[in-house]
Formats: sequence, C-alpha cells, structure tokens
Amino acid sequence: MRSLKQRICSIIEETGPISLAQYMQLALADPQHGYYQRQEAIGAGGDFITAPEVSQMFGELVGVWAASAWLALGSPSPFLLVEAGPGRGVMMADALRAAASVPGFMEAVRISLVETSPAMIAVQRQQLAAHKKSTKWLARLDQAEDLPMILIANEFLDALPFRQYVKAGGAWRERMVATDANGDLCAVLGPAFASMPILPPGHQSEPDGSVFEHAPTREAFVAQISERLGANGGAALLIDYGHDQQGFGDTFQAVQNHAFADPFSDPGKADLTSHVDFAVLRQTAVEAGCHTSRIATQGDFLVAMGLAERAGRLGAGKDQLAQSKIRKEAERLVLPEEMGALFKVLALCANQNASAMTRLPPFVAGAKPNDASRNG
Ligand code: SAH
Repeated sequence: MRSLKQRICSIIEETGPISLAQYMQLALADPQHGYYQRQEAIGAGGDFITAPEVSQMFGELVGVWAASAWLALGSPSPFLLVEAGPGRGVMMADALRAAASVPGFMEAVRISLVETSPAMIAVQRQQLAAHKKSTKWLARLDQAEDLPMILIANEFLDALPFRQYVKAGGAWRERMVATDANGDLCAVLGPAFASMPILPPGHQSEPDGSVFEHAPTREAFVAQISERLGANGGAALLIDYGHDQQGFGDTFQAVQNHAFADPFSDPGKADLTSHVDFAVLRQTAVEAGCHTSRIATQGDFLVAMGLAERAGRLGAGKDQLAQSKIRKEAERLVLPEEMGALFKVLALCANQNASAMTRLPPFVAGAKPNDASRNG
C-alpha cells in the first residue's frame, strides 16, 4: 500500500505545488494515514501533551466556567455543551465532573463533540462512557441542534489549516509544498501577488524573508460559532497557543515524540500546527455580531477561575509528594515561562448575553495580558 507521502507526491505531480493548508489537511485528516488517526498522538506517551493532560484541574476549571456561564444565561434547559476537537476526551470528562455539582446542570445538558477522526472518537467514547446517553458526535458544528450553546475548545484552532506568505524580492508569495529532484517533499515559493488585501498594515516595510500567516478556516469556524450564538444565545471559550496582536513571523511547527520535527519528511507521523492569531479571530467574532472578552493569557484566566484554591483542595490531606506534584502541575499551566503566557483565552457570547457574562473571566475587566509579543 502506498504511503501518505507517496500519495501527496503524486497529487503534486498531477496538479502542481499545493498550499500549506492543503498539505496540512492531507497530512492531518487523511482518513487512512492522517495524523489524527493515531490514537496515541496526545498524552505523556504520545507526541505532545495538552493542558487537560497536564492536570485534571484544567478541565475542572473549564467545567466551572461552563457551569457559571450556564447559570449566567439563566440555566436554559435543554442546552448544548459542545467541545470542538476533544482529543482523548479528558477535558470534557473533567469538566462534567466539576459542573455536575451545580444543581440542574446535568439534567439540562446535551453534549455534542465535534470530531472528524474515527480513532479519536473511539477513545472519546470510552472516556465519556458514563455520559453515553447525553452525548452525540458531529463531524461539523453546523450539524448541532438549535439550542442555547456553551462551546469549549482547547488546542483545536491550531490544528485547522493555515497558509503562509513570504516576502521575497520585494513581493509577497505563497509558500507552497512541491517535490524535489529526489522525490521528497519541500517548500517552494509561488508566483508573486500583485496585491494582497489580507496583509496587515506595515507589510510594505517588512524585509525580505518576512512571513505572514493566514488561516481562513479558523476565521470561518469563529464566524460560525458567532452566528450560532447570535441565533440561539450562549457563550464560547477558545484556548490555544497564539498571539494577541497581529504580526509577522513563521510559527509553522511539526512535533513528534515531544520534539520538533521536519514537517515534510513523513506526513501523517507528526502533528502540524501554527500559532493562532487571536486578534483576527476576535475581530471576526465582532464583525459576526458577537460580544467578545479581552484576549487573556491562560495563566491569568486559570488564576481568575480559582486554580490556586482548586490545587489547595486537591492536595488537602495528601502526602507531601502528592502535594508537590499538584503544585508543579499548577505551575506548568500558569507560569509565564511554561504554558501560562503563550496560551491565550478568548471568550465570545451573544450580544444579548453580554451583560450577564460581565463577571465571568475572561470577560471581567482586569489586567491586560503581560504578553503582547508576536510569539509569546
Ligand atoms: N482538545 C484536545 C485535543 C487537541 S488535538 C486536548 O486539548 O487534548 C486536536 C483535536 O481536534 C483532535 O481530536 C483532532 O482529531 C481534532 N480535529 C482536528 N481537525 C478537526 C476538524 N476539522 N474538525 C473536528 N475535529 C478536528
């Protein structure tokens, strides 16, 4: 059977170089050999660790957020709790355990998991076996029921395809994927664009070699959430690594076995992502008629949600070793030099729900994120 790399090479030979977005789609989502068909991708034994895998406290605080948002919305029943890209289902399991302590929440909730990978769905089914009756799997958000919605997503947006434009010889060109003389995959530059309306201000003075990243699929997803919130009411919490100001820079990365890898050497074997441009997504939501929070850092958000108190309660009555483990996990989630600053949190809600949400982080007015740089 031909490898995914061989298949991508023959697509390129037939049609010419493909965009990074097409490459990413093939490498991650191919139904047979795409990266997300690998159940073992996420977690300590996999290629990368996400926040819910670092500590149960992360998902629990997301659950507290969801339950608080539900109360602020007036406890609608039924309502949809949607997670986009649930991975191993750990965040949802932890979130539900925490939210279940709010009377009425579990009776009102209908869970919808937006997931495209059958391998991940199989893991999620096991993880969420206790919630079998109230859980549905959807391939796309537009298949969700028309109900008030609370949507959560962690490290989902970074997995959606993006494009790169590179300044070369004074003109912007798209970075494409081609094959070289050895039949290997490599990056090349496409023809120069006469005009590029998507470029942010200041692009004229960027030097050669400068890179601009654009992810229309991420914007479309946020627009879709915003429209649903406008129509049915609700709120959304988007957490991912990225920047809170639009800018230039190459953030394309391939990760395999907890280390950076060559994104082109073995498609389907490495996770491919780029940093999320939260400033653009916030703008997208506003243009789609939504109310948005500030762009908070994960550290600020988790502290505001009560991480320190949660860690204290979790450690109470345990021995020193267990307490020190809990403290280290909490630090990993919030310290700026760990996940605390690079990861950002953006919340959206329907305009009609804006005043009800004002006291919920990250809607609540507070300090600006201390990280305003492009790459955190
Ligand atoms: N949220 C999880 C997993 C992040 S990995 C965590 O924090 O651990 C990204 C997840 O999104 C995987 O489950 C992957 O299969 C899923 N995914 C990727 N692209 C998708 C798409 N277009 N639609 C739905 N799910 C997608």
